[in-house]
Amino acid sequence: MSTKEIEVLLIEDNPHDAELVGFVLGQVRGAMEVHAGLFRTTHVERLESAIELLSADKNRFGVVLLDLQLPDARGIETLRRLREATRDLPIIVLTGLDDDTLALAAIQEGAQDWLPKDHLDGRLLSRTIRHAVERKRIEVELLQHTREVEVARARIERQAAQLQQRAEELDAINRELDDFTYIASHDLKEPLRGISAYCEILLEDYEDRLDEQGVHRLRTLTVLCDRLAEQINNLLTYCRVGRAQGAPVAVDLNEIVAEQIASFSPVLDARGFDICIDGPLPTVQADPTLVGMVFQNLISNGLKYNRSLSPWLEIGVLNDPARTLWVRDNGIGINPKYHEEIFTLFRRLHSTREYEGTGAGLTIVRKIVSSLGGRIWLDSEPGQGSTFYFTLPLAETPQDSGPRGPHWSARNAVPDLSVKTSDY
Ligand code: ADP
Repeated sequence: MSTKEIEVLLIEDNPHDAELVGFVLGQVRGAMEVHAGLFRTTHVERLESAIELLSADKNRFGVVLLDLQLPDARGIETLRRLREATRDLPIIVLTGLDDDTLALAAIQEGAQDWLPKDHLDGRLLSRTIRHAVERKRIEVELLQHTREVEVARARIERQAAQLQQRAEELDAINRELDDFTYIASHDLKEPLRGISAYCEILLEDYEDRLDEQGVHRLRTLTVLCDRLAEQINNLLTYCRVGRAQGAPVAVDLNEIVAEQIASFSPVLDARGFDICIDGPLPTVQADPTLVGMVFQNLISNGLKYNRSLSPWLEIGVLNDPARTLWVRDNGIGINPKYHEEIFTLFRRLHSTREYEGTGAGLTIVRKIVSSLGGRIWLDSEPGQGSTFYFTLPLAETPQDSGPRGPHWSARNAVPDLSVKTSDY
C-alpha cells in the first residue's frame, strides 16, 4: 500500500461535522508521525461544488468523504450523482445516521465503505481511507484487465472465424482439385488403352517384319504404357480418398492386419519372411477399406525394400494415450533427409529397375491417415531398417463395434481402391 499523500475531498454541509473530520484527520497527522502529511483535505458544502472540482481535475483527489444529506442532494441520490461524475474515485459515505439499510444501498451503489460520524477516530478514518483507495485501485485494475481480456478474446474469436473460413475455402479448393484430377486421369485412360492395344497388335502382326531394335522399342513402349496406366490408377486412388469415404465403424485392427498378412502369404513364403504382430492391436473408428489400405501399403513397402538374408517385419502398438501404431522392418532404411519427401506424390528414391513402384503409396497412406484425423511419421536410417508410426481415431470401446448399418458398403463407398495392383 502506498504511503504517499492522499488528497481528500470532504463533501459536508454541517460545519461542526466538517470540523470534526478535519480534526480527526489532523489527529492522524499529529499522533501518527509515520503517516505525517498523509492526508490533505479540501472541504465543500454542496454536491455541485464537488462535481465542479472533480471535473476541473480528474486526477487531483484520491478519495471522497461524502455526507448523504446535502442542501442540493439527499440520500442515495447524492451518491448516484457523484458516481456519475466520477467512476474511478473511491467514495466513503459519512453520515450521522446509523442506518444499515442505507449503508448496504450505498455499497451496492458503488461506495467503497461506510462510516458513522459519531464513531470517528483517527486510526479508523485513516485505515478506512487507505483501504478504500487500495480496493478501488485493485477494482479499476481488474476492470482494465477484464476489458483487455475481452478485447483479446474478441480478436481471437475473429481470427478463429477467419481461420475456419480459410480452412473451408481450402477444403473446397482441394475437393475441386481432386475432382479435376480424377476426371482428367479418368479421361486419359481411354487413349492410353488404345495406344497399348495398338502396341500389342503391332507386336503380334509385325514382329517378324521388324528388326531386333524395333521389337525391343515396341516392348519398351508397352512397359511404359503399363507404368503410366499404374500411375493413373494411383492418381485415381489418391483422388478417391479425398472424394468419398465410407461411414466410420469400429474396426478391429487385429482382424484387418491378419487379412493383409494373409494376402501377402505367397511373397512371405517365397522370401522366408518372418512376420509378427506385437498385439493385441486396438479397435479404431474408421472406414475399414481405408485402414486396410494403410496396412497394405506399409507392409508391402516393408517386404519390398528389404534385402536382408533373414528379413522380418513387425506390427505393433505403443502404450501411449493415442495408441500409436507402428510397422517396423529390417530393410534398407531411409536417409532422414528424405523422411518428408517420400510422402510426396510419385517421389521415389530408387529406379524401377532396383525396386518396382510408382511412388504413390506413402502419399495415399498419409492422405488417408490425415483425413481420419491422425498423423504419420517415421524413424529410419540407411541400413538400420525403418519404423513407420501413425495414429488413427480410437473407437470408444471395442464393444461399440456392433453390426454395420444396413446401408453401409465399403465397396460402394470407396470402390476399387487397390493401390499396388493395376486395374488397367
Ligand atoms: P513406391 O514404393 O511405389 O516407390 P511409396 O510412396 O510407397 O512408393 O514409397 C516412396 C519411397 O519411400 C520409396 O520409393 C522408397 O524409396 C521409400 N520407402 C518407403 N517405404 C520404405 C521402407 N519400408 N524401407 C525403405 N524405403 C522405403
